[in-house]
Amino acid sequence: MDAPTILNAIVNMARTQMESQSETGFFLLSPSRWIGWTSKEKMKNKKQNRIEKGLYWDRALSLVEGCDPISEGCDNCWSTTQTHMRSRQANQKMIDRYAGLVNTFGGFNGRIRLMWDDIKKPKSVKKPTTWAVWNDLFHKDVPLKFQFKFFDMALKTPWHTYIVCTKRAAKMKNRVDRIYALLEHSYPEHTIPLPNVILMVTGENQEMVDSRVPFLFKTQAAVRGVSIEPMLGPVDLSHYFSNFFIDDNDDEYATYKPGLDWVIIGEESGPKARKIEKRYIFDLLTQCIDDDPDNDVPVFLKQMWVNGKLKKMPVFAGRKWDQLPNLK
Ligand code: SF4
Repeated sequence: MDAPTILNAIVNMARTQMESQSETGFFLLSPSRWIGWTSKEKMKNKKQNRIEKGLYWDRALSLVEGCDPISEGCDNCWSTTQTHMRSRQANQKMIDRYAGLVNTFGGFNGRIRLMWDDIKKPKSVKKPTTWAVWNDLFHKDVPLKFQFKFFDMALKTPWHTYIVCTKRAAKMKNRVDRIYALLEHSYPEHTIPLPNVILMVTGENQEMVDSRVPFLFKTQAAVRGVSIEPMLGPVDLSHYFSNFFIDDNDDEYATYKPGLDWVIIGEESGPKARKIEKRYIFDLLTQCIDDDPDNDVPVFLKQMWVNGKLKKMPVFAGRKWDQLPNLK
């Protein structure tokens, strides 16, 4: 066979193979579309794999290193352990980033370190990515300029989604009001609040939920969520869903009840985990479902103790709860 004949044979073989694959959904019109299709599939699978591990975000955006405990939910803070471990590595970069933030007992000492250069990281990532912002962007020592820089970057990277979760809800309200006022003025053509920023508060029990959610409701946000992680006791969120009246005594609050767009639930992990009764989780799940499924509040049940083992994304009450919020 001469060279053109061999080439024709190869092309025909490839065509036959592609045609047979078309029946199973693999046939595509051009190599570029084929690549686009497979990479989309890969992305979807990757996302699903991460969700199976209880990870609702794609990448962490660690902007504030260090913190200080603010309530019971901080007692076994995962980030403290990580910081402690990393600060002891024989790697100068790690030491520069993590050293001096943990006390002799291994807990956060209240000092923080701002990662100014990391704010621009998402700009160089072209693939749409969900970033979880660590640790607490609204810690008392984080300056407004730093928070502004983050929101400004989020505005300029609309292909990404950002999840910002805080225990300092009052500070978040104060800062976000000021930042959005500045952004509205600087970029009148942009939608404010930013549609790609999910603002959340963490509450480990009813008391903390009740002290933080009202501030979340007063904060401008396109999507609002509550993370009940670690869940340390029963939590009733039903009066925070939009179809319930909230507070008769607070006019401003009562007229502005946007509801919750997402609930994350997770039992505590680690050797000192404080386990809870499963009925607390069940009760919270049932609060999130409605007669009309369109009105359900999306729930992400990240982890739960099952027969002495921490199970990521458990099947509970007949299903996995792996819902993500609808971006507006
Ligand atoms: S607020 Fe979050 S990061 Fe800070 S100590 Fe508490 S759990 Fe850890």
